[in-house]
Amino acid sequence: QAHIGVIGAGQLGQMLALAGIAMGHRFTFLDPGAQPPAARLGRQIQAEYDDERALAQLAVECDLITLEFENIPVSAVESVSRHNRISPGAKPLSIAQDRVHEKQYLASLGVPVAAYRAVDSLADLHAALQEIGYPAILKTRRLGYDGKGQAVIRAADDAAAAWSALSGHAAILEQMIPFDREVSIVAVRSASGEMAFYPVGQNRHEGGILYRTDILPNDPAQADATHYARRVLEGLDYVGVMAIEFFERQGQLIANEMAPRVHNSGHWTQNGAVTSQFENHLRAILGWPLGATESVGHCVMLNLIGTIPARMGMLAIPGVHVHDYGKEPRPGRKLGHVNVTAPTRAACITRAEAVSRLIQGA
Ligand code: ATP
Ligand code: MG
Ligand code: MG
Repeated sequence: QAHIGVIGAGQLGQMLALAGIAMGHRFTFLDPGAQPPAARLGRQIQAEYDDERALAQLAVECDLITLEFENIPVSAVESVSRHNRISPGAKPLSIAQDRVHEKQYLASLGVPVAAYRAVDSLADLHAALQEIGYPAILKTRRLGYDGKGQAVIRAADDAAAAWSALSGHAAILEQMIPFDREVSIVAVRSASGEMAFYPVGQNRHEGGILYRTDILPNDPAQADATHYARRVLEGLDYVGVMAIEFFERQGQLIANEMAPRVHNSGHWTQNGAVTSQFENHLRAILGWPLGATESVGHCVMLNLIGTIPARMGMLAIPGVHVHDYGKEPRPGRKLGHVNVTAPTRAACITRAEAVSRLIQGA
């Protein structure tokens, strides 16, 4: 049993702790928030992510350190690593935090990415649009999540408004991919080098926010997604769970972004896989043998965004598991998710649609 330090105490930290406590571990979280979700499950050091004293305290008190939030300063990871082991480390974090570095890195491994240009001014943007064409999507290089800090540019006339919407932040212009669908893979590599790959998830987004992940039996994207994920994990000497999001177009995968942590599109594994992504992340950072990543039956994950429908109605549907992060409701905020399981794909879809109706009516 280990005392695990986690930087960040949001819902991902909560679910890591739920899995870890079951295995006999205990947790301390570093997070600046008042009563963040995971704080109910361990001790919280309430401090900013760049507070050197707090980071040193976390590093010294715990047996090993991990993170559940990817936008902590890289210097925080470096300062923890002077005292103790932290997985994942500074390198994957620094690559994933900057969309330009991320695309450069993926491309350097031969993983396809959308055409892109770094953009630091409105003049840069006009030049980049000449090369990339329309439609294109302008994103902040750093700190974006749930589609925040993004603007679609359909014609030259949109450029100035898109640039000012990002309020002068360093940006990236990407070709808008007319994808057939979006998929992601959750992969895990242990401190011993062992790797495992979950079944690919098919993701649907609305307004840039993930709302549904389906696990399709024998997904045609599995082989390529696994192949690319293996390259990324090995290339980084990565330890822990990582997710990579892709666009699929005419059967080809184009990587969108990578997340050096447990991921929303892997939440289905709590009820739909032999071993959850949370348990496997902890097994990986501890150098323990990884658990099997196969799915058990069929599964759909639905996010609860902004409001949570009455639990009784959802739970009356067979195969439904409700996960609640205990957060204050707010429009556009991820408050929880529902994993819908069933012995057949057809039954799973029927049940998921019943839950969807309750979510839409809430
Ligand atoms: P996340 O919450 O997944 O971290 P994010 O804010 O980092 O989101 P992205 O994943 O880059 O943003 O984009 C959000 C969604 O916007 C994508 O899942 C996709 O639906 C759409 N999108 C982003 N980039 C492109 C692109 N180049 N072409 C087409 N659609 C795109
Ligand atoms: Mg992202
Ligand atoms: Mg994304």
